[in-house]
Amino acid sequence: MTDKPKCQEKTRNGWRMTMCPRYAVVDGKWCRQHDPEAVKRRHEEREAKWRKERADDEAATKERLRVEALRIDAVKVLKMIANGATNATALAQSTLFHHKEPRS
Ligand SMILES: [Zn+2]
Repeated sequence: MTDKPKCQEKTRNGWRMTMCPRYAVVDGKWCRQHDPEAVKRRHEEREAKWRKERADDEAATKERLRVEALRIDAVKVLKMIANGATNATALAQSTLFHHKEPRS
């Protein structure tokens, strides 16, 4: 046996709550996993990851909608040209510009 202090945090063991079995190596109160600074840092890292995933999802959705709207207008313009519109260059340029699509 040893008298080294154990971590003060409660943990879950299945459905039961028990004391964390690790030694308290941080401030004589917590193990490295339950060190409040480490807990806070992991929480912040998780939040940042979620924020980035949400932003990436929103950007992907926005891009998908932009491309779909461009597709619809491109078909309209192609039909106009197929039916004899003589300003094909201007139609193409304004459609690309309107949908923020690079010309090259
Ligand atoms: Zn612990």
